[in-house]
Amino acid sequence: MELAGLNIKFLPGVGEKKAAVLLEELEIQSYEDMLYHVPYKYIDRSKIYPIAELTGHLPYIQIKAKIRELKSIGEGKALRMTAIAYDETGTLELVWFKGFKYLTNQIDPNKEYLIFGQPSVFNRKISIVHPELDSFEKTSQLRVGFQAIYPTTEKMKKAFLNSKVISKIQENIFKTIKGKISETLPAWFIQQHKLMFLHDALYNIHFPESPDSLRKALYRLKFEELFYIQLNILKLKYKRKSYFKGHNFKIVGEYFNTFYHNYLPFQLTNAQKRVIKEIRQDCGSTKQMNRLLQGDVGSGKTLVAMLCMLIALDNCYQACLMAPTEILATQHYETIRELLKELGITVALLTGSTHKKERETIHQGLVNGSLQILIGTHALLEDVVTFHNIGLVIIDEQHRFGVAQRAKLWQKNTIPPHVLVMTATPIPRTLAMTLYGDLDVSVIDELPPGRKPITTLHTFEKKRQEVFRFIEKELEKGRQAYVVYPLISESEKLDFRDLEAGYEQLNNYFLPKGYKIGMVHGKLKPAEKEQEMNRFISAETKILVSTTVIEVGVNVPNASIMVIESAERFGLSQLHQLRGRVGRGADQSYCILMTSYKISNDSRKRIETMTSTNDGFEIAEADLKLRGPGDLEGTQQSGLTCSLKVANLGKDALILNEVSRIASEILTQDPNLENENNQLFAIQIKRLFKTRITWHYIS
Ligand code: ADP
Ligand code: MG
Repeated sequence: MELAGLNIKFLPGVGEKKAAVLLEELEIQSYEDMLYHVPYKYIDRSKIYPIAELTGHLPYIQIKAKIRELKSIGEGKALRMTAIAYDETGTLELVWFKGFKYLTNQIDPNKEYLIFGQPSVFNRKISIVHPELDSFEKTSQLRVGFQAIYPTTEKMKKAFLNSKVISKIQENIFKTIKGKISETLPAWFIQQHKLMFLHDALYNIHFPESPDSLRKALYRLKFEELFYIQLNILKLKYKRKSYFKGHNFKIVGEYFNTFYHNYLPFQLTNAQKRVIKEIRQDCGSTKQMNRLLQGDVGSGKTLVAMLCMLIALDNCYQACLMAPTEILATQHYETIRELLKELGITVALLTGSTHKKERETIHQGLVNGSLQILIGTHALLEDVVTFHNIGLVIIDEQHRFGVAQRAKLWQKNTIPPHVLVMTATPIPRTLAMTLYGDLDVSVIDELPPGRKPITTLHTFEKKRQEVFRFIEKELEKGRQAYVVYPLISESEKLDFRDLEAGYEQLNNYFLPKGYKIGMVHGKLKPAEKEQEMNRFISAETKILVSTTVIEVGVNVPNASIMVIESAERFGLSQLHQLRGRVGRGADQSYCILMTSYKISNDSRKRIETMTSTNDGFEIAEADLKLRGPGDLEGTQQSGLTCSLKVANLGKDALILNEVSRIASEILTQDPNLENENNQLFAIQIKRLFKTRITWHYIS
C-alpha cells in the first residue's frame, strides 16, 4: 500500500482541524509521515506497584487503587484539589492544579482506578501530581505493557492532540491498512542481516509487544535509515569520481620547491606533511578533488592551504582562498603575502570593502591570468568574478558557508576546480560520514611543537576582581587578553549593555594602570572593526573586549588570556573556537570561563568538558551527545538537513559503521544499482532523496 499517498485527514478521529495542526506543527500529512512520528520514550505499564513500595525515586509508574477524600484546598494561585488513593498496602496523595470540575464529576469512590504518574516526595509524604486516571475495567481491556509517549507541542495539546490521541491515531492507521505496508528493503537483505519486517517494526515502535521486539524494531528502522543515507551518499561519491574530470596538477615545481627550501618559517609537522601529500595525490589523479581538511584550532591549516596553492601555481593555474569574515580574509592575505613576498607571486585581497577601482583591477587580473592568488570573502562569489584558469579553490571555516555559496565556486571554470574545504570545528566521525560522506577527509591531528596546553578554569562572576588581578599579572609580563561577551544576536539590546558595561569596568580598572582597551562588535563598520583589530594585533591595545566576531581564525600569538563572560550561554564548539584564539604562542595560556552561580545541568556539563580537555574531537563528540546533531553548527547550512527520524548519530555509531561497510560492498559490485537484486535500493534512493540530490555533488 502506498502510505505516502494517503492523507490522514480522512482517518477516523482526525479530520480537517487536527490534520491542519499536525501539518503545521510536525509536517505530518500522510499515513507514512504519521507512522514515522516515533515515540520519544516508552513507559513500562506492565507492572502495577503496591503503594507501599513507592519511593520518590521512581520513574513513571502505575498503581491500582480506589480514591477517597477528594477536596479543594488553598486559594488563588495555591488553589488545588487533593485526594487519597489507597490499596491494601497503603495510601498516597494525589494532587491537581486544574481540571477541578472534571474531577468532581468523574471520580467515583466505589471504583478502582489505574493511576499513572511520577511519584514525588513532599513534606515526607509521597504524592503524584496530575496523575492519569483510567477506570480499571476499562484499562484492563486496553493494552498494558510498554506504552509509547509522543512528543507534542502546545498547539497540538490545544487541538486535543496529546500523546494518547496520537497513539489512537496510530492504532487507527494499522486498523485501516490491515497489514499492508510495502517492504522497503529486499527480502534477501532482510534475511542476510536478520532484520524485522517493516510492518512489524513500525507496529512495534508504536505498540511494543515486548522489550525485545521493541529493540528489534528500533534496530531495523535505524539500520534502514542510516543504510539509505550511506548508500545514497556513497553512490554519488562513486559517480562523481567517475564522471567529473579534474585538472591534473602534474608537477611540484619551482614555486613550491623554492618556498619549501628557502622560506618555510618552520618545519612542517608530520600531520601537515601527510595532508599535503594526500592533497597532491588527489590533484594529480585527473579526478576532481573534493576534500575536507579537518584540523583543530591552531593546527596550521593556513600553511597547508598556501603550499597547495603553490602547487596549483606550479601547474599554471590560479588559486583562491575564501574566508567567512573580512577580518579573517585580511589576516590570511597578510600572512600569505608576507610569506610569499620573495617569490614574485601576485596576490590580491577582495572583500566587500574593496574600492571600486581596485576591484576592477583585480577582476582584470583574474581574467587575463596575471593575478595568481585571490584571497577574500563572499565577494569572491559574485558573478563578475571570473577567472582565467582557476585550478584550486580553498574554503576556510567551511561550516560558515552555505552549500549554495560553495556551489558557485564550482562553476567558475568549465572543468570544476579542485576543492578543499577546511574546518576547525571538528565534526564527529558519525556526523562527517552522514553529512560529508561524499568528501574525502584529511585530518591534521597534531599541533605544532612547543605549544603548551591551554589551562582552562571555571569561576563565578562574583570573583571578577580576582580575574582582573590575574589579567593584570599577565599584562605585566607583556601579554594580551581577550574578554568575550555573548552577543548571540548582535541586535539584542540587553546583551549590548552587558558588553558596554564590561568594557567600562575594564577601563576603570586597567586604564589608570596604563593599559589601553579596544572593543569590537558587529555594529562597527568593517573599517572600524579592522582598525580596532589592528590596534590589538600591533599590541597598542592590551585587552580586546569583543563579541563572538573574533570567534574564527584570528591569530594574535601574544594573547595569552581568554576570558569568556556568561560562558554558560555559549555552545561547546563555540567555546572551543574562542579558546583557540589563545595558546598560539610559546607562553602558557589561560582560558577563564565566567558564569553565574545558577546554571543548568547542560551548561555545567559543557563547562566541565571545557575544563577537562583541549581536544577538539573529544569536545565535538561531547557536543553531539549533549545537543544532538540537529543543532550542531554546520548542519543547518550544510544543505543536508540531518533530520534523522529514528537513528541518533550520538548513539548509533556502531550501526552507522556497519551499514556504511555494507553499502560500500554493494556499490563496489553494482555502482549504479542496476542488478535485479538491487532494484528496490534504487527505487528507495530515488524516493527518499529526490529533492536533495544535486547538493551532494558539492561541498
Ligand atoms: P588554524 O589551523 O587554526 O587555521 P593557523 O594556520 O592559523 O591555524 O596556525 C596557527 C599558528 O601556528 C600560526 O601562527 C602558524 O604560523 C603556526 N604554525 C603553523 N604550522 C606550524 C608548524 N609546523 N610549526 C610551528 N608553527 C606553525
Ligand atoms: Mg585558520
